[in-house]
Amino acid sequence: TKPVEIKPDAGVEVNWEDIAGVDEAKRELQEVVDFLRDPRPFKRLGASVPAGVLLHGPPGTGKTLLAKAVAHESGATFYSQSASSFVEMFAGLGAARIRRLFREARKSEPAIIFIDELDAVGARRGSDNNSEREQTLNQLLVEMDGFASSGRLVVMAASNLLDKLDPALLRPGRFDRQVFVSPPDVDGRRRILEVHTANKPLRADVDLHLVAQQTSGLTGAELANLCNEAAIFCARRSGQALGREDFDGALERVVAGVQTNTTLNE
Ligand code: ATP
Repeated sequence: TKPVEIKPDAGVEVNWEDIAGVDEAKRELQEVVDFLRDPRPFKRLGASVPAGVLLHGPPGTGKTLLAKAVAHESGATFYSQSASSFVEMFAGLGAARIRRLFREARKSEPAIIFIDELDAVGARRGSDNNSEREQTLNQLLVEMDGFASSGRLVVMAASNLLDKLDPALLRPGRFDRQVFVSPPDVDGRRRILEVHTANKPLRADVDLHLVAQQTSGLTGAELANLCNEAAIFCARRSGQALGREDFDGALERVVAGVQTNTTLNE
C-alpha cells in the first residue's frame, strides 16, 4: 500500500480570543508561543525549552483549539495527527509514520506536531496485547529523545486520561509540561457563549449569564452546539434574531441529549 502523505494543516486560524473559559491553560501556553517565536532570550538564561506539552482534560474542552491557537499565534507550521490513525493494521506502519512525521516537521521549523487522542497509542505498555501499538509508542519515545530541543519544534498532544498513559511519556525531555484544560465554570461558560453567538443576531431578551447558569456541566463543545441549535430554532420560526425561546428550545434538546448519552454510558 502507498504510504499516507504527511502534510501540514493549511490555514489554521484560531486566535486566543476564540477560546474562552480556560485562562490558566492559555497563560501556560503563551510561554510556548514565546519560545517558538524566539527561543534565544530563554536559552541565554539557561532555561530549558519545552519539547513536549500535554493537554489533558475531558473531551470537548478546547484542547485541539488551544494547540491550533499556539500554532497560529506563533506562526509555526501545524502538523496534526490523530493517534488512532497510527495504530494501523500492518506491523511497522505506525512506527514508520511517526518517523516520517518528525522528519517532515523538522524540515519546516518553527513547527508544532499535534497528536490528538494520545491515549490510543500512549496507554501503559503491557496493558493490552498489542505489539503494533507498543512499537508505535516506542518510536514516539525515540523520536522525542532524538531531537535536542531547539525550541523551534514542539510536540503537543491531547489526552483524556492522564493516569492511563505510559509513565515513560511523562519523563523529562518528553511530555514534561502538562497543562490541565478544565471544564468551564459559570463565568467561563458565559464567555464561551459570547464567542459562539458573536456571529449571530441576538434579541435583547437573551441573557447569556442566565444561559450559563442553566448549563452547569456542559463543555465548550456542547455550548457551541447549543448556540447552533438556538440558531436553527430561530430559523425554523422564521425569526430575525435569536430570542429567549430559541435558547429554551435548544437547552431542552442539548441538555436532554447530554443526559441520554450519560445514561447510555453508565
Ligand atoms: P476532544 O478531547 O474530544 O478532542 P477537545 O478538548 O480537543 O476535544 P475541541 O476539539 O478543541 O475539544 O473543541 C471542539 C469545539 O468545541 C471547538 O471547535 C469549539 O467550537 C468548541 N469549544 C470547545 N472548547 C471551547 C472553548 N474553551 N472556547 C470556545 N469554544 C470551545
